[in-house]
Amino acid sequence: MDLQFDQQHIWHPYTSALNPLPCYPVESADGVYIQLENGQRLVDGMSSWWSTIHGYNHPALNEAAKNQLDKMSHVMFGGLTHQPAIDISKKLLEVAPQGLNRVFLADSGSVSVEVAMKMALQYWACQGNSHKHQFITVRNGYHGDTFAAMSVCDPVNGMHSLFSNVLAKQIFAPAPQTRFDQSWNEDDFLPMQELVERHHNQLAALILEPIVQGAGGMRFYHPEYLKRCRQLCDDYNLLLVCDEIATGFGRTGKYFACEHADISPDILCLGKGMTGGYMTLAATLCTEDVAAGVCEGAPGVFMHGPTFMGNPLACAVASASLDILATGQWQQQVADIEQQLKQELMPCKTLSAVKDVRVLGAIGVVETRQPVDIAMIQKAFVKSGVWIRPFGKLVYIMPPYIIQPEQLSQLTSAIYQALR
Ligand code: PMP
Repeated sequence: MDLQFDQQHIWHPYTSALNPLPCYPVESADGVYIQLENGQRLVDGMSSWWSTIHGYNHPALNEAAKNQLDKMSHVMFGGLTHQPAIDISKKLLEVAPQGLNRVFLADSGSVSVEVAMKMALQYWACQGNSHKHQFITVRNGYHGDTFAAMSVCDPVNGMHSLFSNVLAKQIFAPAPQTRFDQSWNEDDFLPMQELVERHHNQLAALILEPIVQGAGGMRFYHPEYLKRCRQLCDDYNLLLVCDEIATGFGRTGKYFACEHADISPDILCLGKGMTGGYMTLAATLCTEDVAAGVCEGAPGVFMHGPTFMGNPLACAVASASLDILATGQWQQQVADIEQQLKQELMPCKTLSAVKDVRVLGAIGVVETRQPVDIAMIQKAFVKSGVWIRPFGKLVYIMPPYIIQPEQLSQLTSAIYQALR
């Protein structure tokens, strides 16, 4: 591969154009393995950023894509519809938390968040409440890299100061402090409660990632916090938007993380694992009440419609991905991964470089005391045959659900060795 061209002309995620970190050329991927051009085979600990839940090159997903390709790979969604869109939407509504009844097929996670925020704003504006135009969220959140999504990302991690003159000003409560497995501390919810009491007249919605705060810190918080959010939104007339783009489709041990708290949001964002990581597709689901509120009164329509909305190829693959999940095998797989991660990552706690180790579902996190040297640790991981991409002080893995115990041990022991 022409790596020099890559370095000189292609942007990679969160990377300097002038002094880019090295990139490893990939030839193919199969199951849990990423095959490098130099012949090396790496066990994938990242599921390509939470998405390839069933592993790479999956026969059923391949077949779905190939079958659909021969019919049509794309057709505009304005004024036209097709079976793959109907199939995936039906399947999403079957598994979605109660009350969600409408599906907007977006083309990436960030866009599904834009759509969710726009829905919330239009919902209130159409009812003559355009003063309800702000969002409240928690610190350490992450919702994507587009501008509305960025406005509700953690202000520090999201570099709000850099974009302060263009980003919408939202309201931030402290991040939830009670961990998932601790006993609930009533005080934890007070700041959110107070902020909503004070600002509810101008608030359209509360938006947050349920249970797992992902890219904003890999934190697992107490389900009671989420329960209280639901109640607070009901009490103060706010919509609740849950961003399950990272947590959806089994990753936390429940089909959706909302189930840990037994709540349903008014608007739900999905993405990543939806197509089994094959291609980009996301969805914003909402209740009938939200849909009606958005479309009653002028302009009478929801003002959003991306070119690749409801892409048939992506919908067909997503549909096959949900069929795999419908077998229910993921539950045992995720439970086994969780147990093994707990066993094999906990020894990292004894290392002086390590501040904390936490595991939930098929997510394992080792938090270091100092930020890791990404180029150096990446090299060490590749040398030991694994693909793990840390950021800041977080060395974390969320492998494909199909990973076998010995492959998972390769990941956990590579982490232990690298941090030792
Ligand atoms: N929300 C959450 C919780 C995410 O983890 C991500 C992606 N990391 C996004 C939104 C954005 O999705 P995408 O990268 O597909 O735009």
